[in-house]
Amino acid sequence: MSTRDINLYAPRGRVSESPRRPDSRPVLHRAQLVVPITQPAIEDGAVVVADGVILDVGPFQQLRRQWLEAPARDHGEAALLPALVNGHAHLDLSGLAGQVQAKDGMAEWIRSLLTARERLSQIQREQARLQALTSLHAFGTGIVGDIDSSATFTGEDSDGTLVVRTFVELFGLQIESLEAAVDRLPHPARRALANGQKNVSLAVHAPYTTSASLLREAKDWTSERAKVVSVHAAESEEEILFLRTGKGPLRDLLEEGGMEPGRWQPPGCGAVTYLDRLGFLDSLSLCVHVVQVSEEEIQLLQRSRAGVCLCPRSNLFIGNGLPPVRQLLDAGVPCAIGTDSLASNADLNLFKEMTVLVDQCGIGPDVVLAMATFHGARNLGLTSHYGSLEKSKRWLAIRVAATDIESVIAAGCQGALEWLI
Ligand SMILES: [Zn+2]
Repeated sequence: MSTRDINLYAPRGRVSESPRRPDSRPVLHRAQLVVPITQPAIEDGAVVVADGVILDVGPFQQLRRQWLEAPARDHGEAALLPALVNGHAHLDLSGLAGQVQAKDGMAEWIRSLLTARERLSQIQREQARLQALTSLHAFGTGIVGDIDSSATFTGEDSDGTLVVRTFVELFGLQIESLEAAVDRLPHPARRALANGQKNVSLAVHAPYTTSASLLREAKDWTSERAKVVSVHAAESEEEILFLRTGKGPLRDLLEEGGMEPGRWQPPGCGAVTYLDRLGFLDSLSLCVHVVQVSEEEIQLLQRSRAGVCLCPRSNLFIGNGLPPVRQLLDAGVPCAIGTDSLASNADLNLFKEMTVLVDQCGIGPDVVLAMATFHGARNLGLTSHYGSLEKSKRWLAIRVAATDIESVIAAGCQGALEWLI
């Protein structure tokens, strides 16, 4: 990845320092707790940074001796963390905040979403998207995987404050080729794909809205370019019922939308099994939600090395229940965390997503923080630059007002954080 497609930014919102260019000379950033993610948290730790790149991480006293010339910035009674990675969002749906019905199941939620989306003007959608970018930043998110199905496709962030990976979303149960699906996209999205824009890839909406050949061709296209492909998978019981039998509430919904589900042959199995049979799963596949999976399917995910992105508050909002987080982690499946859209979530605060995993799923805060940083970067294909505080990675970091791992998530939930450059 070149630096051209990375939007290192000047901080905005809750910031402690005015925007400026990164120091070209090494600077020691010291804090009571440094949380590198890929190694245990360091009490009285420090990070050495120059030109926006991390040169060293370790105990402050040790680094002080090694970097005698470097000026120190003391961030005090706080924890330094890598910027959060929101593995799955739909920023173009941000105008739907508070307008979509909750708890009624998948088909009803989609119906409610489509109706509410019709009521939004283009200007409202664009304004809401910009507000969402600001909001992500205020909550400590520095990288986002954004699914885009709008006619206002931009392919990159509009104000230079976030690293955005855009996944152009494809639909079509009766569309048999990638070419035909892409032909239906708005012009800017077609152009970005044709030009090979580096931060743009494909998302196939879901196994129940996309033909088998379109799933295969999208996977081939992204594999040839070493890009991650995203897919909503195993989100609801309704999805599994439709994949197994071709029946249920989702069939009714697809008929209403003219997608002719009666002409489609259901695979007769679960979503993950189906994707595996199609050759869709490998280390560049990102399966979003993964709530309705069997133990065998968890093993399939592990063997394929596919990434998963969990969006627990969205699952609860729609009424789909919580994903089997413990089983996925125990199997060694790399799990990122996403907020999904404001059509199924109250806000874009990833710390609140982490709270659900800690409080309702019993996952340790250190593990959850790794999911929200390192595994997010891994699953978006960005781990060489982001997701942890390590030598040679970008200095994209936040200061959270907490001095132990257990308190970091609670402080982040309350917005007690600042950006560091
Ligand atoms: Zn989604």
